[in-house]
Amino acid sequence: MKPFLGRSKKSPVRPVKRVRITQPSPTEKPTFPRLYSALRDHYGQQDWWPGDSPFEVMVGAILTQNTAWSNVEKALANLVAADVLSLTHMLRLPEPDLAALIRPAGYFNLKARRLQNLCRWLHNCGGVMALSSWETGRLRDALLGVNGVGMETADDILLYALDRDVFVVDSYTRRFFARIGIIDGGDAYDSLRATVERELGGGARVFAQFHALIIAHGKALCRKKPLCDTCPLRSICAFVRASA
Ligand code: SF4
Repeated sequence: MKPFLGRSKKSPVRPVKRVRITQPSPTEKPTFPRLYSALRDHYGQQDWWPGDSPFEVMVGAILTQNTAWSNVEKALANLVAADVLSLTHMLRLPEPDLAALIRPAGYFNLKARRLQNLCRWLHNCGGVMALSSWETGRLRDALLGVNGVGMETADDILLYALDRDVFVVDSYTRRFFARIGIIDGGDAYDSLRATVERELGGGARVFAQFHALIIAHGKALCRKKPLCDTCPLRSICAFVRASA
């Protein structure tokens, strides 16, 4: 297995660190490398996805479904305090007890079931380390076969827990890409993921940074109600042109 990416215990939404701003030319068309470069210049390096082990990142990927990360942190803290944040301990934990511990993350009964589905699958595979020899496509298919693991969760696990060259598509990426005009908004998940991976390149570290930068941008400027006046991408943004 390649070195694990996530080490920080800090929130994944880091305070915005503003650095040099590179304004694109008005005639420039958005490309994924150009968007990555502009966001990186604006927000700087992102430390992304907290977790002390690949297993903790996997647990976080389930817990973060349909909830804010601040709630996930409370649930993870409960699991740490109860000393059950390991595959062995979580497998032994009765589902109602697990549900009680992860209550702050919401949908706790459903997520407890999903966590134990994931744990059973991991156990049957021989544990997290045994996955290092699996080819990424096979691993992704197997993860998608675990009840409760959808495409975004599978790709969170592949990228952030297992350091695989996979880009994660989520609501922030779709909103940003659609507004900037690089997609039309109706792209299928796998098609969009494959397009970013092919056109951006750079592998897991670049994909993780790009995803983190898009979320930072979605929190800071490209919000539900976007703050376009101070956006470094406004000169090439289709949303701005359409709003003029
Ligand atoms: S100009 Fe506005 S809509 Fe376009 S990327 Fe920036 S914040 Fe989002």
